[in-house]
Amino acid sequence: MMEFTAKAYFDFIGEGRIMGSRCGACGDVSLPPRPVCKECGSVEMRWEELGGGGEVRAYTVINIPLSRMEDRSPYAVGVMKLDDGPSVSGLILGVTSGDELSVGSRVEAEYVKEGGKTHLCFRLA
Ligand SMILES: [Zn+2]
Repeated sequence: MMEFTAKAYFDFIGEGRIMGSRCGACGDVSLPPRPVCKECGSVEMRWEELGGGGEVRAYTVINIPLSRMEDRSPYAVGVMKLDDGPSVSGLILGVTSGDELSVGSRVEAEYVKEGGKTHLCFRLA
């Protein structure tokens, strides 16, 4: 079985798949995947593909960007709670003002290829 590493996680993102680890003892899902359950310490972890739907739990719109993000400014970043359990942070594409977003807004995963990597981003659903 493939090891629960960040590399494996990003390789799956490159394929357009969100893969977490589910604990066989308590059912908790970790993202990124981890070999030991953060809730109960079990090592009975297995890969599980998660859906890309979720909702915004927290967000901020950044008007003064890092230099590498200048061409995207302003942009939104958020913490998304996936319908399948875990939370993940990422860019929320197509949003330029906080008025367009609220806690609870529905989002869907979108995979953005840039600089030879694939990034897990989100877009309002
Ligand atoms: Zn567990």
